[in-house]
Amino acid sequence: MPLRVVVTGTPGVGKSTVLEELSRLAEQESLRFKIVNFGTVMNSLLEAEGMKIHRDMIRRQDLNLQKRIQLEAAEKIVKMGGEVTVIDTHLAIKTNLGYLPGLPEKVLKRLEPNLIIMIEAEPAEIEERRKRDQDRMRIENETSEVSTELEWSRRMAAACSVVAGIPVKTVKNVEGQRLKAAREILSLIMEVQGKDA
Ligand code: AMP
Ligand code: MG
Repeated sequence: MPLRVVVTGTPGVGKSTVLEELSRLAEQESLRFKIVNFGTVMNSLLEAEGMKIHRDMIRRQDLNLQKRIQLEAAEKIVKMGGEVTVIDTHLAIKTNLGYLPGLPEKVLKRLEPNLIIMIEAEPAEIEERRKRDQDRMRIENETSEVSTELEWSRRMAAACSVVAGIPVKTVKNVEGQRLKAAREILSLIMEVQGKDA
């Protein structure tokens, strides 16, 4: 059975950075797993339909379009195959109409993940990282908003956990300790694979 691990975290939590570290660790230890960014897959599908947009504009699109592309992205990821796939995604997408689940039931059933890992950080640190991240078009920078987003991610994670019958593990990304977070994720993947870390 192929193994799929969902790694999620609110924007600015340092998810992509931790996953880059994870990718280096896996290479060093000659472990084979694929890290797929869900937003990148969605963007390539949109581009194939003639919509070349910034990744932070995906969540501003028509809801039906987002939902269709979301499901297509899940199908594409499943078809990529591979023994272990780490899926970098979001569980609560802040759309114009409110929070959209990143893994609604249909998508969850398609992906059949074995574990959800939620990367978290202190709201003030997330706020700082968002301000520093010049490539992104992240408008919401208030700490109170960050806390609300974190709360929504947790709610969505709980819902996914119940529907899929899989555990949710929180990993803290403390400033300056991204290697520690990556190591923790690596050992969780090994454990879910039934191997020693
Ligand atoms: P990221 O670069 O990981 O912050 O993702 C960029 C964008 O991709 C997000 O802001 C969402 O619009 C979209 N995205 C990522 N994962 C999902 C998902 N599971 N469902 C719907 N949209 C997603
Ligand atoms: Mg990212």
